[in-house]
Amino acid sequence: MNTSNQKIFIHCPRCGEATLEPATKKSLTCTACQFVFYLNCAAATVALILNEKNQLLVTRRRKDPFKGTLDLPGGFAEPGETIEQSLIREIKEELDLEITHLEYLCSAPNTYPYKSVVYPVTDMAFVCKVKTFATIKARDDIDDFYFVDLAELDTQLFGLSSPKKIIQHYLKVLSQNQPPVFP
Ligand SMILES: [Zn+2]
Repeated sequence: MNTSNQKIFIHCPRCGEATLEPATKKSLTCTACQFVFYLNCAAATVALILNEKNQLLVTRRRKDPFKGTLDLPGGFAEPGETIEQSLIREIKEELDLEITHLEYLCSAPNTYPYKSVVYPVTDMAFVCKVKTFATIKARDDIDDFYFVDLAELDTQLFGLSSPKKIIQHYLKVLSQNQPPVFP
């Protein structure tokens, strides 16, 4: 369990006593009633979208965490969604783009600090094709977007850690001229 989460989750959601104690890296147990509270990994998607010039679509975050830093489009899966449905929905919401093809690339663990809680996340990255870029606009959680040459992309400008790892993995795959594989 992340140490900052230990300070946030104190009261048992079942009996209400201030008796939650860290049990494992993803759970706390109530010493009064033995209730177990899990903070499991949230599933999230990341899209690598390239234009006809082979430039990567990157976004700028409108909100915290890491407001103002670069990011890749995507977001959290909602209950009941497949990960593919989640990715298609997020890209429509954030950029008004319609994904027509997606191919799994790799995954990366991430942490997402939000309002004092550090959420563990599993990001799943897909290389995507879109119907057209004519409709593109920045909205929802996105302040702006850019198409960047992969060779000129400075991954240090990304706030979250997983986009850096995913882009580095993608560059490695491209350099080896192999289809996407697990890292
Ligand atoms: Zn309890």
